[in-house]
Amino acid sequence: MPEINGFWEADFGNPYVLINVTLIFFLVIFARYILFSGMYHYLIYHTFKTVFQHKFLHKKVPSHGQFRKEIKWAFIGSAIFAISGAAMIYFWYTGKTMIYIDILEYSWWYVPMSIFAYLLIHETYYYWLHRWMHRPGVYHKIHKVHHDSVETTAFTSFSFHPAESFLQSAIIPLLTFIIPVHWMVLLALLMLMTLSAIVNHAGVEVFPEKGFLQKNIIGASHHDVHHKLFRYNFGLYFTFWDKWMGTEKPDGIK
Ligand SMILES: [Zn+2]
Ligand SMILES: [Zn+2]
Repeated sequence: MPEINGFWEADFGNPYVLINVTLIFFLVIFARYILFSGMYHYLIYHTFKTVFQHKFLHKKVPSHGQFRKEIKWAFIGSAIFAISGAAMIYFWYTGKTMIYIDILEYSWWYVPMSIFAYLLIHETYYYWLHRWMHRPGVYHKIHKVHHDSVETTAFTSFSFHPAESFLQSAIIPLLTFIIPVHWMVLLALLMLMTLSAIVNHAGVEVFPEKGFLQKNIIGASHHDVHHKLFRYNFGLYFTFWDKWMGTEKPDGIK
């Protein structure tokens, strides 16, 4: 694949190259947000509206003002994620990270293990960061921007205060300093992060009711409770921290 070789061979120690990388990352991240959120929202609310109608979590579609606000915060957040990504490329180039290119550098069985380790650590980081962001002094300064959307949509998925975007964007690049990861696993994890955020904010439950998935993996209904009641359901991908810490919404509460 010549274009990939070309990318790997670029001089990432050169500030101009790094600025270009940051700009390209920004465009890709923001375009990905608009495209995927737009497509998912359109499919759910228009094309498959009749299929999903009974699974809609909101009574009405949020206002245009809310969409505009969310897209504005996501625009700024995309720039912050792009800077984190470019920093990661720079540190990879200078040999500081443990990102590897040749899959055989570690064995094949290491691939699922690395995915598992990244997901578990990311989950733990996010759960406790999220709990901290709900402390009164912190909430109003940082996390309120995300909670301004009570009736969430796919576009809420990336609507964060810049400080929260920074805190969220930092964890995976930091992990690359300590846990070896193949570059394609890294891309897959970043993609999963985007898609799960979209699915969890879209306001429509797509997992089968009361099944294994809905009990253990966070979906739209689980995260919708967080936006409507604030006090419950702080997790990112999995429900285990909420279960262990007693922060999962008990059945009887509405
Ligand atoms: Zn929150
Ligand atoms: Zn949310």
